[in-house]
Amino acid sequence: MSAEQKLEKLARQIVVCTKCELHRSRKKAVPGEGPTHAEIMFIGEGPGARENEQGRPFVGASGKFLDQLLEQAGVTRADVWITNVVKCRPPGNRDPLPDEVETCTSNYLQHQIKIVNPSIIVTLGRFSMGLFFKGAKITQIHGQMQKVADRFVIPMFHPAAALHNLSLKPEIMADFAKLPELLKEARTELGKSGAKGKEPTKKKISRTK
Ligand code: URA
Repeated sequence: MSAEQKLEKLARQIVVCTKCELHRSRKKAVPGEGPTHAEIMFIGEGPGARENEQGRPFVGASGKFLDQLLEQAGVTRADVWITNVVKCRPPGNRDPLPDEVETCTSNYLQHQIKIVNPSIIVTLGRFSMGLFFKGAKITQIHGQMQKVADRFVIPMFHPAAALHNLSLKPEIMADFAKLPELLKEARTELGKSGAKGKEPTKKKISRTK
């Protein structure tokens, strides 16, 4: 089975999954999307209201902000894989529970990571950060790339957090602006220099928006 077929198979399982309580209130599960061998994978927390309607990740307000941040880093959505820790919307936007996180990541996210095999994983928010850095504080480690097994992980604030707390906006923008440099560093370290994908080029966007 090709990597693409494996990802499609997982997506078919996710949309009918009943392994945890979150399936009861979902409209559409959100498996994630992107090119099969994306160099960068973004992992958010879980689908919000818009994502639950559309079955696609980051299509609401935080998705619009994520698009801006990507553009600033010279990356487009078409270049990256985007998914979430949990694939179904927690009711009322509550936090996902530990058993929901464990069930969903062990059955789906861990497989998606293995198949896509990104050089860099960007965690968005504390739940996805917690998968790689247990007990870490996002205010202390955001924007710092660290090697985890055979890839690199960069914890970042969740775009929604920056929308709610405007003082975080310059910080998340500065972290995203470092992505092209960090990608180069990761490629070199992993011996993938000059590998697939075009070079992202940092663009200036207004910080006042
Ligand atoms: N927030 C997330 O964490 N993921 C989404 O897909 C949308 C909003």
